[in-house]
Amino acid sequence: MQTSTEYFAGLRLLHAPGPTHVPKDVMDAMSDQPLDMGDPRLEELVTDCEAGLRNLLGSEKSDVFLYATNGHGAWEAVIVNLASPGQKVLVASTGHFSNSWAEMTEAMGVEVVRTPYQEGYPIDPASIEAALNADAAQEIVAVFVVHTDTASSITSDVPAIRQAMDRTGHPALLVVDVVASLGATRFEMDAWGVNVTMGASQKGLMSPPGVGFCAADARAMEIARRNPSHRYYWDWVRRQDAPVYRKFCGTAPQNHLMGLRAALGLIQREGYENVLARHIRLSGAVQAAVECWASTGAVSFVCQVPAARSVSVTAIHTAPGVVPDEIRRVARETFNVSIAGGLGPFAGRVFRIGHLGDLSAPMVLGCLAAVEGSFRELNIQVGEGALQAALQKLS
Ligand SMILES: *Cc1c(COP(=O)(O)O)cnc(C)c1O
Repeated sequence: MQTSTEYFAGLRLLHAPGPTHVPKDVMDAMSDQPLDMGDPRLEELVTDCEAGLRNLLGSEKSDVFLYATNGHGAWEAVIVNLASPGQKVLVASTGHFSNSWAEMTEAMGVEVVRTPYQEGYPIDPASIEAALNADAAQEIVAVFVVHTDTASSITSDVPAIRQAMDRTGHPALLVVDVVASLGATRFEMDAWGVNVTMGASQKGLMSPPGVGFCAADARAMEIARRNPSHRYYWDWVRRQDAPVYRKFCGTAPQNHLMGLRAALGLIQREGYENVLARHIRLSGAVQAAVECWASTGAVSFVCQVPAARSVSVTAIHTAPGVVPDEIRRVARETFNVSIAGGLGPFAGRVFRIGHLGDLSAPMVLGCLAAVEGSFRELNIQVGEGALQAALQKLS
């Protein structure tokens, strides 16, 4: 996208952690004409998307609900289906995204209990265990967990959280936000005992923004069925209906679904394990570069626990006097590479390199070179050898 007076030769690289680069197959699939609502191909399109997502989520039997929405819409769907005003939800604090989800929950009249937040660290499962043990009346309906908090670039250990919950014997559902992790890092909904997941199309799923989804297991559906909260468009029970028109509460976002089906097909063709391994390799290269840059103290990792560093995105703190938005501006305007800024409390002191979705080694190297070039342009003294270190990880 450029204005009518601009022309940028070659590629402009998008290294935000969403929206991410959209592969040509996905773009092409979206350029098909919409279908008439009675066409059986439409039924097939929706079924393929549901089955593909179930497969990627590692869930045999969950009900999948697709919406014309973004991640925020899918959050709201989770809230209204599982909890009604006056009930309680436990939100595991991970930073900007858990906080936004918690604020939305409160705005809908549902009480929120938060675990203590520790900047730079993943969720401590013991804090969830303690909060559930403290809820003797078992009023907490669900525990909301953000798998990868995109603002801090920290991935939490979902199986360990499930085990902590099981130790309490508390019946709360485990609900996981996989917006930034699905299609990049391993996720096993059934095997990990996750009752509900929600996600969106524009990050690891390599599709344009516009589709959000929820997947709910039988226990969650039972809670939803009994939940008296007022809802219509988001209602899972209503959407369990067969005709596509009812399933989508109106016209389906068909072209977006065509794109999503193509993207899910690409993940299948590359192979799930290969996709995960590619994300580990590319993120390893970025982390190796950041480690080199960090040796002068001008920049540093937000995530203090190497094992919890996300394969999707790397959030980088800047020292006082190093302005993240300046680095972003030079990277974008001089080097044709878009990176992201700091969110919430990180605004003005963090920038982020996205490395998820449809990416290859030369794209990541190009991004790292652009960031390094921006440091030079701005006279920011960082450690030497970052590109060589990245290359080492890739070869
Ligand atoms: C991006 C993101 C969201 C919000 O998605 P939108 O599509 O921007 O509404 C929610 N959770 C996580 C973890 C995200 O990365």
